[in-house]
Amino acid sequence: MSYLEPAPIKDKENPLLSMMSRFDEAVKHLGISNEMYDILKVPYRQVVVGLPITMDNGSIKVFEGYRVLHSNILGPSKGGIRFAPDVHLDEVRALAAWMTWKCAVVDIPYGGAKGGVTCNPREMSAGELERLMRAYTQSMLDVFGPDKDIPAPDMGTSPREMAWLMDEYSKAKGMTVQAVVTGKPLVLGGSLGRVEATGRGVMVCALAGMEKLRLNPFKSTAAVQGFGNVGSHAARLLHERGVKIVAISDFTGAYYNEKGIDIAEAMAYTEKNNKSLEGYKGGEKITNEALLELEVDVLVPAAKEDVITDENASRIKAKLIVEGANGPTSAGADKTINEKGIVAIPDILANAGGVTVSYFEWVQNRLGYKWTQERVERRSDRIMKDAFEKVYEASVKYNTSMRIAAYIVAIDKVAQTYKFRGGY
Ligand code: NAD
Repeated sequence: MSYLEPAPIKDKENPLLSMMSRFDEAVKHLGISNEMYDILKVPYRQVVVGLPITMDNGSIKVFEGYRVLHSNILGPSKGGIRFAPDVHLDEVRALAAWMTWKCAVVDIPYGGAKGGVTCNPREMSAGELERLMRAYTQSMLDVFGPDKDIPAPDMGTSPREMAWLMDEYSKAKGMTVQAVVTGKPLVLGGSLGRVEATGRGVMVCALAGMEKLRLNPFKSTAAVQGFGNVGSHAARLLHERGVKIVAISDFTGAYYNEKGIDIAEAMAYTEKNNKSLEGYKGGEKITNEALLELEVDVLVPAAKEDVITDENASRIKAKLIVEGANGPTSAGADKTINEKGIVAIPDILANAGGVTVSYFEWVQNRLGYKWTQERVERRSDRIMKDAFEKVYEASVKYNTSMRIAAYIVAIDKVAQTYKFRGGY
């Protein structure tokens, strides 16, 4: 088998295959050539490295790291770095391609990339993580660059790791290079509004979708799965705009209250409770599976991939799904969701508020100037709303789901740009 073909992943849907099935369907609508299909499908560079790290007990452990650059057709590639025990090259490749489509949907001048290191950050000390991140950065010195490839945090990494990356890269270049990475701490050139940016984009998409479905926010209910960065801010911002959030959840379970959850109170609770909803008394405890099947207007999966599957899709009762997480709906569930008339605003549109404000961080770093939170929010809201409308129009024009329409908009943009730039 070619190393460019997806390999099977044990026990879960291969995200690369799941992404490719949507890509293939969108391509059929666009009628692009086989040559262009191959150009857009294949990552242009894949780097795999071994990283020997001295652990705190003096032993040396070798970690495997990846960086997949899917596309640089629209501009430098952009994508996060994932530290997790089950990071797999295929997963990184799927996420890299998703970044290409995500950046194209919201019309920002970036291609897509993703990085990962197979490790368990929960079992590592801060010192071990710092050495690992610095070693990873060293091994990627010829890959990263403000005009080439710009990483960011993802699962298992945070502004702290991005600060180490920026420092290591800057030392190697002999000057401070803030724009090499986004998602940095504020004092190091991070952007105001970045923390809540993804949740805010989810809120903008949810309200735009509700408008199309003629759902009045003040008379609507929502359930939000996942109460981390994306889920908690999406819930808070929707709540502030009148939507009654009847259920929230995290890895400890789901909490249901038909009168509505007080989101500010729940956020204050997790802040004091080691980021967990365990023991939360503002709602009756139900399971995460039950949350997905609640009779609500809006469902926001904002925890992890593959939670809406061909097994439970027929039991989903929401009218609108807004995908805060990456890949929460498996490709096998799309058909059922569409047949039931449920509108799903896909991940590559709904959670693109994060990469949009990351782009603003990069712009500010290059300008050497800081924008106010109000300016960041105004500009990102406009980008998200415009992207939503463009995808909605494409869904009408091609008579297809919002998901396939988002891929159509993205693939069309990248293919057209490639035609102008040309190849060899
Ligand atoms: P996070 O770690 O801050 O939060 C994840 C939340 O999901 C936590 O509350 C966790 O307890 C919960 N969770 C974990 N397993 C669960 C389960 N089985 N059932 C229910 N809840 C569970 O992560 P995040 O940054 O909020 O990211 C969430 C999703 O959004 C991921 O898919 C991520 O790739 C995607 N995303 C994040 C951003 C961003 O800017 N943070 C941007 C785009 C996409």
